[in-house]
Amino acid sequence: MRPGNDIRETSIGSIVTCANGSVEIGVKHALPSSALSSAAPCRRVLVLGGSSEARTLTARIAADPRLEGVISLAGRTSAPRAYDLPTRVGGFGGVEGLTRYLLDERITHVIDATHPFAARISANAHAACIAAGVPLLVLTRPPWAPAQGDRWREVADNAAAVRALGAAPRRVFLAIGRQGVADFRIAPQHDYLLRVIEPPQTDDLPPSCEVIFGRGPFALEDEVALMCDSRIEIVVTKNSGGALAYAKIEAARTLKLDVVMIARPASGDAAATHSIDAAMAFLAS
Ligand code: NAP
Repeated sequence: MRPGNDIRETSIGSIVTCANGSVEIGVKHALPSSALSSAAPCRRVLVLGGSSEARTLTARIAADPRLEGVISLAGRTSAPRAYDLPTRVGGFGGVEGLTRYLLDERITHVIDATHPFAARISANAHAACIAAGVPLLVLTRPPWAPAQGDRWREVADNAAAVRALGAAPRRVFLAIGRQGVADFRIAPQHDYLLRVIEPPQTDDLPPSCEVIFGRGPFALEDEVALMCDSRIEIVVTKNSGGALAYAKIEAARTLKLDVVMIARPASGDAAATHSIDAAMAFLAS
């Protein structure tokens, strides 16, 4: 706390009015709508979240008194870890809804720190930022690249991943999360092990599918043990990139298992970076 600050505890968290008149909010709970204060700091930042990069970035924004920010989550995870910024949850209502939000909230900067496979919200953010005249930066992690010993087959999408599994029955580690698992129903000959954070829809599952729950980071020895104990023959994963989920790639390499690597969807032509420092510099621009 800085000297001269006035702190008010509310149902959503603490509201700090600084000696210079600016307002900072420390939020305990998700906010349904307008999460930003009416005071006017230098920068009003919307972070589109759903990735570990978003979490790191929000901590940096929260620590910078020149910035006021809000993080937006889609609401797919029932108990998301707390963020250091006010949090809004749920869709905006397409490009039109997001454009309206940017204008209503007088957002000055948007950082799209969504997961690299969340293509729709990224396209919406690009279009809405153009419509509202708000600068946008995409913050994403670098994709994984094959290392020596990796046995990857790189494919464009889930449909190609299904084809890459082939006709003969195999024991498949489906490490793609619950979204898109229904695409594998057309290959019911395989015996799947699906790892998810949230329970999938039963109707989405292939007929022979064991579901386990887990949220990264995962340790290499645990991934090796899981693949051995589960008699995995082939791994299917998205090229999400980053360290938190990389152990499964190393485990497959260790066990000399084939990996079907699903490529990222095409990214738009918005400015992009892998660097948190570059994102902070963008916010200072
Ligand atoms: P998506 O297909 O790109 O987006 C579907 C809709 O969800 C969007 O049109 C938007 O609704 C809403 N939405 C998505 N992200 C949002 C956000 N951060 N804040 C507010 N609304 C959001 O997204 P997805 O693939 O379903 O992923 C949903 C969320 O999970 C994303 O935030 C992403 O970062 C995270 N995630 C995705 C994956 C993955 O593999 N796809 C993996 C890990 C985490 P409206 O059109 O109504 O605004």
